[in-house]
Amino acid sequence: MYDIIIVGAGPAGLTAALYALRANKKVLVLESKSYGGQIVNASLVENYPALPNISGFDFATNLYNQVKDLNGEIKFEGVIRIEEDKTVITHKNSYKAKAIILATGAENRKLNIENEEKLVGNGVSYCATCDGNFYKNKTVAVNGGGNTALEDAIYLSNIAKKVYLIHRRDIFRGEEKYLSELKEKDNVEIIVNSTITKLNGENKLESIEVKDNNDTKQTIEIDGLFIAIGQTPKNEIFSNIIELDEKGYIKSHDGVHTNCDKIYVAGDTRVKELRQLTTAVSDGSIAATIAIKEMED
Ligand code: NAP
Repeated sequence: MYDIIIVGAGPAGLTAALYALRANKKVLVLESKSYGGQIVNASLVENYPALPNISGFDFATNLYNQVKDLNGEIKFEGVIRIEEDKTVITHKNSYKAKAIILATGAENRKLNIENEEKLVGNGVSYCATCDGNFYKNKTVAVNGGGNTALEDAIYLSNIAKKVYLIHRRDIFRGEEKYLSELKEKDNVEIIVNSTITKLNGENKLESIEVKDNNDTKQTIEIDGLFIAIGQTPKNEIFSNIIELDEKGYIKSHDGVHTNCDKIYVAGDTRVKELRQLTTAVSDGSIAATIAIKEMED
């Protein structure tokens, strides 16, 4: 019997673990993939207060080690179901706790076009910092208009010969600072008001077909495509008991409590305005503190 089971070992989940362990609680963190969540893909985190030059991977590793140093128990088992009595079922085991914190983050959104799935790892990637080095002096494209896409394009422009940045509108969600930096680069071409409609290549990506708002089509030969079009939550497994909004994010009237007693939510996976590292760690600390308080009430 655990005091708290935390589902997800990203910044929100690991911060919740840190707070609960420091309060001497018996904690289990369950993670289906590897620790760190999406921040591991950020080459540089520039907007975390007082840590101006840390990579996402280093941030996640420091946090993971901080939890391990407190003897935090982290198991790499995918959760397949939770019950209202605070049972958590993974593909290997079943665990019970007094409280659960759901911190499952979100996963990369797919374009859902022909050949996308088939070419992952053979020209199609969702992580520039993981796969960028395979494209030294080659031609790549980044799709998206948020901070991830802009940062990815900057990162890749220092590795690849040529970078196309393709965005479906002419207004970018990402910060102006990154956009200005990209506009200054000789090897970056920005294509706006355009969507990628097709990926060509049998065993390896060879080219993409791009259509603009006037239905004009062009084929661009590239070696790599980095898809950075945001994230979607992965909460269907909780929908037997947890209320989700129409996009699949966990509803919470106050940003901490779910509709189920002693089941809490933290981080990108909940309905919220700003999904960032700062707000994820804030959520994790608050969720753990409230879970502990309500356990002791
Ligand atoms: P995001 O801000 O949600 O941006 C997603 C982008 O993809 C948008 O430009 C969107 O276009 C586009 N898009 C969505 N679905 C699409 C589709 N089906 N086809 C084509 N384009 C599509 O996602 P993100 O860039 O991954 O960022 C997520 C959060 O992390 C944000 O809050 C961001 O600020 C933060 N972040 C921060 C940093 C940093 O501060 N260093 C770095 C990375 C990310 P529309 O604009 O037309 O909707």
